[in-house]
Amino acid sequence: MKFDTIIIGGGLSGLVCGISLQKKGKRTLIISSGQSALHFSSGSFDFLDRMPDGTPVENPIEAVSKLPAGHPYSVIGRENVAAYAGNTKRFFEECGVTLSGDPDRNRFRITPAGVFKRTWMSIGDFALADSDREKIGERILIVNILGFLDFNTAFIAEGLENLGSQCRCTAVKIDELEHLRKNPSEMRATNIARVLDRQEVTDKFIAEVKAALKDEDTIVLPAVFGLKNKSVTDSIKSSLGDRKVVFIATMPPSVPGIRTQLQLRSVYEHSGGEYLIGDTVDKAVVSKNSVMSIGTVNFGDMSLEADSYVLASGSFFSKGLVALPDRIFEPVFGLDVDCPAERKDWYSTQLFDRQEYVSFGVRTDAGLHPFKSGEPVMNLYAAGSVLSGCNSLYEGCGAGVSIFSAMRVADLISNKEE
Ligand SMILES: Cc1cc2nc3c(=O)[nH]c(=O)nc-3n(C[C@H](O)[C@H](O)[C@H](O)COP(=O)(O)OP(=O)(O)OC[C@H]3O[C@@H](n4cnc5c(N)ncnc54)[C@H](O)[C@@H]3O)c2cc1C
Repeated sequence: MKFDTIIIGGGLSGLVCGISLQKKGKRTLIISSGQSALHFSSGSFDFLDRMPDGTPVENPIEAVSKLPAGHPYSVIGRENVAAYAGNTKRFFEECGVTLSGDPDRNRFRITPAGVFKRTWMSIGDFALADSDREKIGERILIVNILGFLDFNTAFIAEGLENLGSQCRCTAVKIDELEHLRKNPSEMRATNIARVLDRQEVTDKFIAEVKAALKDEDTIVLPAVFGLKNKSVTDSIKSSLGDRKVVFIATMPPSVPGIRTQLQLRSVYEHSGGEYLIGDTVDKAVVSKNSVMSIGTVNFGDMSLEADSYVLASGSFFSKGLVALPDRIFEPVFGLDVDCPAERKDWYSTQLFDRQEYVSFGVRTDAGLHPFKSGEPVMNLYAAGSVLSGCNSLYEGCGAGVSIFSAMRVADLISNKEE
């Protein structure tokens, strides 16, 4: 089987790259083992929350020029990053994912712990605040679903009261969700969302919220609505129209993140792209600095070939990188990984310190070609969190690196082929 491009990994970077290549008329295949980081995301896209030295960033586009040479944004190039950042909202809008926020400005989101955290753009459900001292309402009703433990209303109330709001918490009982409560491990955001996606159940929920309301001007709800379609959140907002409705992310799994993943996948497939889920690329033939073919667990001895290949397999979380007690490696191609040899330099024993292993990944040249045994592999490109050179957790740059490197790789591949 021959494709123009085979993409390994169908998370944010693999899908953005795949959609971009399909738009350019390429025949692509995405192979993805399973869930991606989007399934666990906050529902907000970080671009660059702070510099590697900890300085908070207000305008991420401006800040890119001050990053060190090995940072993925420096490799992509400041002008390219600015162009991709400017294009991101439209790209996602065309995929049916509405983002709020501005390309050249960071704002703040409310975390499930009730504190404000800097971010760049948010999926439409979530409100963004201009400052971390902004009150989202004077009198706030925080509504949970009875038995749902991944949305801690007391934490959220404490955070919002610290900013001067008055909060009241309540939990509503929905009969259709009662069977999930019999087993607490089933009372998860995605299971709840599946039930609440039925209009008649959402209507009952809205009626319960209305019954619980007193004089509150703002209603806070867990982001457990609209697994497949954002119309559910829109209908809740319009039904409670005279009050401000704010959705706050729950602990994972992430309903808005999964909806985004499903939406991007659907757009990719509708554009003619092929998506193989549940299979893992486990072998590759590399000769003379070129990938000749790859193989997967399910395809066994049958190989897959393409003119170019994209490694978008994520970091440790998605097994794009693997750590053993004595070494860290990239499992598909055996690429060179940027990381210190000594295990003691991989991490800090203080949990909340900056953890160095987050910045490990494959090193690339300016064309995003990763290295194998010191030589760039010329028909292979790397995109997303498999890249080295940034600490996405500390700097808050995860989604930006994934989106912009994916767009850059798609441009590089199509420019080369033209
Ligand atoms: C738990 C978590 C939460 C995060 N939340 C946020 C957030 O809220 N905002 C933000 O900006 N950033 C967040 N990040 C940072 C995140 O890394 C990026 O935002 C981005 O989603 C990463 O996308 P990716 O496509 O590079 O990798 P991933 O999303 O990890 O996707 C990689 C995909 O490749 C597949 N794969 C791996 N190896 C193979 C193989 N050999 N064969 C086939 N498939 C393979 C995996 O199954 C996976 O589906 C989060 C990261 C994690 C780990």
